Amino acid sequence: RTESAVYAAKRAGRSRTHVHAGGGPDGRAVLEGLQRGEFEVHYQPIVDPRTGRTTAAEALVRWRTPEGGLVPPSDFLPDAERSGVIVQLGAWVLRTACSAAATWTADGSEDAVPYLTVNASGPELQDPTYWRTVHDALAATGLPAERLVLELVESHYDIESLHLANNLHQIRQLGVRTALDDFGTGYSSLDRLRRSGVDILKIDKSFTDDITSETSEAPLVLAILAMGKALGLRVVAEGVETRAQAAWLVAHGCDAAQGWFFGRPAPHLERATASGRSDGP
Ligand code: C2E
Ligand code: CA
Ligand code: CA
Ligand code: CA
Repeated sequence: RTESAVYAAKRAGRSRTHVHAGGGPDGRAVLEGLQRGEFEVHYQPIVDPRTGRTTAAEALVRWRTPEGGLVPPSDFLPDAERSGVIVQLGAWVLRTACSAAATWTADGSEDAVPYLTVNASGPELQDPTYWRTVHDALAATGLPAERLVLELVESHYDIESLHLANNLHQIRQLGVRTALDDFGTGYSSLDRLRRSGVDILKIDKSFTDDITSETSEAPLVLAILAMGKALGLRVVAEGVETRAQAAWLVAHGCDAAQGWFFGRPAPHLERATASGRSDGP
């Protein structure tokens, strides 16, 4: 069970020392797990649903416990964020993922190489040196800035924060793009969207879930697709699990989708997934 695994990891972190790092015991367990090399980055393909071709991949962090269990981010990110340890964990994820993405090559005959997306949390975006972490990850791995996208969840950060504004400014100066994650949930408003300056919108799974049902979210997703087109934003539908959802997206002009139907997160980027590729949506 993952819960017992993470509690075991936390207990191990506590028993090793009673001196708490800035954020307290829970952040300390994550930090010690990081120092013991227990974290992994998995990659989930983002595809063009019309062709099944992989156009990007999202980096998703996991904690591999000594017992061999894989702990999902929902079990340790709250602790990591509260304690500030997410700044170190996030820097490690960024470096690891950029290093992997630098080895990705073109898929088939297309010459476009998939770009990488990495999640950036509120505490990271409000850390004054975050932009330099991004700069250093690109410099150390040789990944071109154009192949990196940072995913932001607007409800997780303070849009008025000066450090955040400076980070976004510096990151964009480098040539790195940004995406608004979980779009449609939280405090989304057109004003926030306009001021956010993002290049990509990711439609939250809760909307994708119902696009093919009777009482559906379809009109909302259509509106987001149209708005994306009007504003020149790329729109990615998240959490696509069924062939019917994929077909609906193709029929309505969505050219980027992510979800179990096309591929699950895996330790290496897998391009050709059975459900999404072999017989098409
Ligand atoms: P997210 O950024 O919205 O990522 C998408 C989540 O949906 C991932 O969960 C992914 O595994 C899952 N998912 C993808 N396709 C499907 C599908 O078809 N069906 C279902 N049911 N789920 C699907 P995961 O990996 O557990 O990550 C949860 C959240 O943790 C992420 O949500 C993100 O907010 C955060 N996170 C993950 N990795 C990192 C990281 O390295 N840094 C930061 N700051 N946050 C991260
Ligand atoms: Ca994300
Ligand atoms: Ca999301
Ligand atoms: Ca989410």
